[in-house]
Amino acid sequence: MRKYPDNRYSINELYQSFDKLKQKGWIKEIIYNFKFKQDGKTISLPIISLRTHKKGKSIWIISGIHGEEPAGPNAIADGIKAIAKLGEKYSVVLLPLCNPAGYLRNWRYLNMQKYSSTQEGHSIGDSEHFLLKGKTTRRKQPSSKEAFTFTSYVLKLSKEYPPLATFDLHEDNKLTKGYIYSQGKHGAKDKIAKKIVKILEENKIPLQKEGKTRFGEKIKNGIVGPVKDGSIDELFSAKKIIVNNKIMSGPSAKTVIVFETPAKGMSLQRRKKAHLELLKILPNFIHT
Ligand SMILES: [Zn+2]
Repeated sequence: MRKYPDNRYSINELYQSFDKLKQKGWIKEIIYNFKFKQDGKTISLPIISLRTHKKGKSIWIISGIHGEEPAGPNAIADGIKAIAKLGEKYSVVLLPLCNPAGYLRNWRYLNMQKYSSTQEGHSIGDSEHFLLKGKTTRRKQPSSKEAFTFTSYVLKLSKEYPPLATFDLHEDNKLTKGYIYSQGKHGAKDKIAKKIVKILEENKIPLQKEGKTRFGEKIKNGIVGPVKDGSIDELFSAKKIIVNNKIMSGPSAKTVIVFETPAKGMSLQRRKKAHLELLKILPNFIHT
């Protein structure tokens, strides 16, 4: 078993933790089996989805979109009891490790390790093919068949489990100060977003409260409002989408949060704790 210098869980330990929800009666599905070659062998890793039997307006928790960001999936593994409890009260969908091959290889993308200015990195959550630019699709061909399968699954499940609030757990290893994105109806004014900034502060995570992100987006009180970044988060918040050349209603989640902890010079333990704290207090501020 491969050991990581930051002591993150092995991928098998993660899968075992997530499976505890199945033992609690949650529905488990495999969205896609991601196959890749390593040391001359073909490895297949499932992208899994877990959800409560109870349908209707739901809380979605997503993590591991970027494979080199271990805090979210590790916090979910540690917080699986809190998530099970959340599922006793609410409809919940959990997509805990969306890019398992990336986690295993410490690769950000499906097709390459790191960001490059010359080659396009494909994310599992790339959603431009369903997003609009004027009255047409923003991108004719999906960035990959995996992203198409993943985003199609999210849209399909959104019909029975319409997202009320989504929490996408990320971090950024280029940052020493973090911030969050709030892509939902109330954008940077979302009350839940403000509470989440507080959680980060209480966990002594340094925040960039004002100014701009490294992508040039405006930060106010530690929160970046809606951005058109073609991500799964934008898809969750979209009021209108385009599927097979037909414009239709999108998931239009009220609250869409992207949680970003700064990973530069901060131990995984500390980053994980902030993510875990968020998972634990979710039941306190969701109102369906
Ligand atoms: Zn990320």
